[in-house]
Amino acid sequence: MKDRIIGIMGAMPQEIDGVIGLLQNPKEVTLGMRTYTSGTINNIDVIVVFSRWGKVAAAATISTLIHVFNVSEVLFTGVAGAIDPTLNIGDIVIGKRLYQHDMDARPLMQQFEIPLLGKTYFESDAEKLKHAKEAINPLILDNGLKNLIGEGVLAQFGINTPNLHIGDIASGDQFFANNKQKEQLHNSLPTILCVEMEGAAVAQVCHEYAVPFLIIRTISDAADEQSHIDFPLFIKKVSSKYSVGIVKQLLHQL
Ligand code: SAH
Repeated sequence: MKDRIIGIMGAMPQEIDGVIGLLQNPKEVTLGMRTYTSGTINNIDVIVVFSRWGKVAAAATISTLIHVFNVSEVLFTGVAGAIDPTLNIGDIVIGKRLYQHDMDARPLMQQFEIPLLGKTYFESDAEKLKHAKEAINPLILDNGLKNLIGEGVLAQFGINTPNLHIGDIASGDQFFANNKQKEQLHNSLPTILCVEMEGAAVAQVCHEYAVPFLIIRTISDAADEQSHIDFPLFIKKVSSKYSVGIVKQLLHQL
């Protein structure tokens, strides 16, 4: 077994295809309706896979990465809807604490508590967060994204200078597409920056097997009435390039 094998999961096939394009000597294995592509990036062994959507799908995919492909760490890149009003489309969020917003076993336990683990969230490794921030900063500060995507395309999405945030992410089996849903989540978990459908499931399995994880999300929509329009456009034109940029930065600096 090799010491360091990084599992890279993406929430959209388009994002994963971009990352597969970075691999040297790619080889595919198909298991359980998922295609795992192994190879190297910058001489580091990686396995790249589309997580599929939702908590169950993502948990099954990360389990396979751990048990079949022996990954020693996991990087998840994908898109998310903004919950905190200070976030804009195009911002990047590195997950600090990962919550499952639809976990609710009251009155047996408090809201959001994960049964048997006695936790309401999973926390990312502080050292990994620090490295990730340093690695991704140039995408924001040195016009990395503008060079990668083009100022014209960014402007179409109203993205001027994207911000990098480190903060809390909520995951659950719901696509957020209205202000009522959004307000409810903001009220019950006020520190949440963005919402998505996989991160906290991956974090739970990683916690159970002591595998370090990083969940990095690009804001594709504002989790409101406009999100079903913003989301597909963003995926098509922008998000895959963000994922490629994020993976490149991290694998050169981690
Ligand atoms: N493209 C699919 C739907 C994908 S589900 C379709 O149209 O059929 C949405 C994906 O984007 C999930 O991986 C989820 O993690 C993320 N996501 C982006 N915006 C979101 C939002 N507003 N609410 C929940 N998940 C969101």
